[in-house]
Amino acid sequence: MKFNTKTIHGGQEPDVAHGSVMPPIYQTTTYAQSTPGGHKGYEYSRTHNPTRHALEQSFASLESGNYGLAFGSGLAAIDAVLKLMKPGDEVISTNDLYGGTYRLFTKIYEDFGIKFHFVGMHNADKIESYITSKTKLIWVETPTNPMMNIIDIKAITKISKKHNLLLAVDNTFATPYLQQPLDLGADIVMHSATKYLGGHSDVVMGALVVRDKELADKLYFIQNASGAICGPQDAFLVLRGIKTLHVRMQRHCENGRAVAEFLDNHPKIENVYWPGFKNHPNHDIAKSQMKDFGGMVSFRTKGNNYEEAIKIVENLNIFTLAESLGGVESLAGHPASMTHASIPKDEREKTGVVDSLIRLSVGIEDKEDLIADLKQAIG
Ligand SMILES: *Cc1c(COP(=O)(O)O)cnc(C)c1O
Repeated sequence: MKFNTKTIHGGQEPDVAHGSVMPPIYQTTTYAQSTPGGHKGYEYSRTHNPTRHALEQSFASLESGNYGLAFGSGLAAIDAVLKLMKPGDEVISTNDLYGGTYRLFTKIYEDFGIKFHFVGMHNADKIESYITSKTKLIWVETPTNPMMNIIDIKAITKISKKHNLLLAVDNTFATPYLQQPLDLGADIVMHSATKYLGGHSDVVMGALVVRDKELADKLYFIQNASGAICGPQDAFLVLRGIKTLHVRMQRHCENGRAVAEFLDNHPKIENVYWPGFKNHPNHDIAKSQMKDFGGMVSFRTKGNNYEEAIKIVENLNIFTLAESLGGVESLAGHPASMTHASIPKDEREKTGVVDSLIRLSVGIEDKEDLIADLKQAIG
């Protein structure tokens, strides 16, 4: 099955009870048993739920994996991966990272005795010097949030396999439409399905996909034992969102390109961060591991003026000033005071998240309207 067919049919069967083509929302906690233990595959909805199961099959299909897991949020999915670790274990992570992931690693898991090394991975060779006998996991986000750095997944796979480490890739920004980390050699793919997979800014959800049975069993055990699952209504909404993922992504990419090119030619703009530019430091890697360049674009104004950046985001009319990304509507954010405020200023400035940086999630409206909005807001 090719990708566009997978978004609609991947892992989906008509409902067994009545043949309903769309998955019913099984709003139930428990399932009747004919004799103790005599059930039809479902006992209790923390462990299994048919609507969630349909979604988990879809996740697995989209990422060309064998096993999918749905969680109550992206962070709950990351949390489940971290629970594979033990005190004393070490994790090597991208340094340019979603703020909430950084907070989970440093404010929760460091206290449980797990050590994190935050490393700039655009040069994959740098990673090896951080590997010790205690290293267990490499955590990669690509494209990174919000600086749009591109990390060479294949190159990191070589290192993770050589040292027998798990490699997890946060594929939220790219989506499986653009990039398939398991095919490139990663062990775990993670999504904030809150973003492009859900696609309509109306549900918070997380996903993991793996190929290896033993790893899947460990993660299912954690999912059930820790309980950070999603409800059936939310599972239904994300399944519905996924059916148009490929069509939405095509338009996100087209509009993202138009916005990036407009900003790049604007006299008041200093830098535009978008992997589709030939002079982007890892443009060639982006081209080889992604199908297109996505709808996320960051930029900064000349002079790096905080007040000016705030004025621009406040002046926007069609772009809504809001956290999050990946919905059909265009959003603008100011990472330094919003999504990345939990990262200390000197840490975040090292990675380029300066006070004038603005991040756009370019939606699927008419691109002429989006560009006109940016034009009036920048002035
Ligand atoms: C939003 C986001 C997360 C966290 O997901 P939630 O669904 O908000 O918990 C993790 N990684 C990236 C790249 C994100 O954008």
